Order: sequence, then structure tokens, then C-alpha cells
Amino acid sequence: MEVPNITSLYQTIIESKAELAALAEDLWRHPELAWHEEYAVKRLSDFLRVHGFRVETGYLGFPTSFRAECGSGSEAAFAIAAEYDALPEIGHGCGHNLIAMAAMAAALAVKRGLDGGISGRVVILGTPAEESGGGKVKMLQKGCLDDIGAAMMVHPSWRTVPDKGSTAIRRYDVDFTGVEAHAATTPEEGVNALDAVMLLFAGVNAFRQQMPDNCRIHGIVSNGGSMPNIIPGSARCRFYLRSSDEAWIERLDRRFLDIVAGAELMTGAKAKITPFSVPYRSRRPNAVLNAVYVDGMNTLKSPVVVNSSVGHGSSDFGNFSHLVPGIHPYFAISDHLIAGHSPAFAEAAHSELGRENALKAAAAMAEIALRYVSDADFRRQVHAGFEVD
Ligand SMILES: [Zn+2]
Ligand SMILES: [Zn+2]
Repeated sequence: MEVPNITSLYQTIIESKAELAALAEDLWRHPELAWHEEYAVKRLSDFLRVHGFRVETGYLGFPTSFRAECGSGSEAAFAIAAEYDALPEIGHGCGHNLIAMAAMAAALAVKRGLDGGISGRVVILGTPAEESGGGKVKMLQKGCLDDIGAAMMVHPSWRTVPDKGSTAIRRYDVDFTGVEAHAATTPEEGVNALDAVMLLFAGVNAFRQQMPDNCRIHGIVSNGGSMPNIIPGSARCRFYLRSSDEAWIERLDRRFLDIVAGAELMTGAKAKITPFSVPYRSRRPNAVLNAVYVDGMNTLKSPVVVNSSVGHGSSDFGNFSHLVPGIHPYFAISDHLIAGHSPAFAEAAHSELGRENALKAAAAMAEIALRYVSDADFRRQVHAGFEVD
């Protein structure tokens, strides 16, 4: 049986527009932090059950993950990933409420296609803790893609763009320990841990001049001492290292550790380096899946900007894309540039435009899923040249 065209998939979704909008708004009003998305999981798993999916919550032992499946067949399934965690203080400043809504909308269109005679299996994966914690990385380690052939999700942005890749990220806390002393009366007895932090920043800033544009390093001081008249005996900073080039992320990592060692030598303070969250890999977008997304969004009149540069953000979907072909394209929730993780982005994540484009992206996602599971030739094209690494 033929896969319905995108216009008819979109029509199916629009029939449930009110229910889907209520869901997106409900999640927006109940923002939950990474690993604590109980409300969202209850809401989403109920939705999928009501619409005929076989749902397992607490999937792979993670309390706020789920897996929902529909269809049948022995071929590998197509996975649609849903995210639903929010940010401290600004709530859905990354718009994951719309990611969840788009996954549910795609599920409805996929279900109608599979009920209508298309053979194959589609899985909705509820993946917690994207903002911090690496839910997908941890689920992957437990085999969440074992019977999955390809995967996708969609993410809000200020414009509609295909997946241009993302940066791998490593995150570290660095604690320096020195010796406290009165800064005026006995400074010679002190070992200044804050100096080590500042020299670490200076070393990173000098190195920045020799980094390619695909790299980013940024840090904050999380503890810089308590009083000016006490030489800080302990100081702490947190750094994020990113690159879209897997070889460069290794180089950044090595150099960063050398700079930390340099700061130790220069001050006499001792460093303790602790990884913060799990590393995310860069994204490897699949060109065949991207092309179908671009076509679909153009057909539904959400014009796609195709000549954008490589994305510098990071996502745990990156790890998925090294194991199976996948894409993580974007849909517009604003008609002008707004920054991710900002109050303006949180506002746009409950706008009419945001919801409308999320539903269009969902239709494109449903078309891709149905074509993947039912069309062996399309599957071959998607997998051509793909290697697990
Ligand atoms: Zn985010
Ligand atoms: Zn996000």
C-alpha cells in the first residue's frame, strides 16, 4: 500500500489539533527538570494508549522514559524520539513541550497509515533528560535502539532548517585546592586556588585563537572564594568543550587538561577534574531523510532555509546518529531571530505559530517513518554509505 502524501498526513493531524494543542499547553504549564518528568510521561503515555499504542513506561529502568509501539512486521522499526524536559527558572525555554507534541501528532498519522494497511513497526521513544543528564546516551547503553533501523525527532528553532549537524560536548567541573591565609598579614602562607581558576580561563582564552570555527569553549566560575581578605583555599569552575569535529573534540579535551595542569604548576594549587553529565557526540545528519523533510515542509508552506551553517548546539541525539541513520531538523516557532534557552524562546514555545509548525514537522516525520518501514528501496537509499562508528 502507498504511503499517503504529506498533505493528507497533515490533514489527519489537523483533525486532532485541539487535543494536541491542549497537550502542548499543558506540558508548557508544567515544566519539569531532567529525570523528573513524571507529569509529562503520564500525559504522553496516556495519550498514546488512548490512541492504540502498546506503551511501556519506565522503559529500560529509567522512571521517566517510555516506549510505545504500533504496527507489526519483522523488519527493523523506525523510531520517533520525544523529549519533554525543561530548564531551571525559564521553563520550556528550549520548547521540548512542542517536541513532545510533534511526536504525538506524528504518532497519530503513523497509526492511521499502519491501520490502513501499510506494514511495518513505528516506535515512539520517550527520552528524558536531554538538557542535562544525557537520557538518550544512557538509554542507548541499555539497548534502546537494538531493534531500530533509523530514528528522528524535530526541534523548535527561530526558523525551519534541515539537520546540519551539531557539536559533540564534554563538560567538566574543575575544583582547585590551595591553602587559605590572611591576604594582608600572611599572604606568603597562602596558595591561591582562585588564581588557578583565572589562569585556567587565561590559558583557554589564549588557546581560543588557534581553534577552528567548529569549536566552542565556555566556562563559569562557580566558586571564587568568600572574602577578599582570605586567600581562597578552594575555587571551582565549570567548562563546556564543543566541536562538530570528533577529532577536534579529542584535541580540545587534551589541551584543556594540559591547561589545567599548567594552572596547577603556576599556582601550586591542586586540581580535581570531574565530568559533569555524560559526553554527547556530534550529530551526523542523514542526507536522504533531510531531503524528504525539506520537501515536506516546503509543501506545507513552512519555508525551509537550506543554506544555514553547521549548528553549534549539542544534543544527545548525536549519539543516536552514530548508531543508526537519523535526523534532528528544526521548525520555526518565531518569525525573527530569538535565542534558544531564553524567556523569549519559552514564550514562542506556546505560540500559535509554534504549534502550527510543530504539526507540519510532525506530518513530515510521519511521512518519513511510513516510507522507511514500508519501502525497501527508500530504506536502501537511507542506509547507503552509513556505517556505525
Ligand atoms: Zn536545550
Ligand atoms: Zn532542546
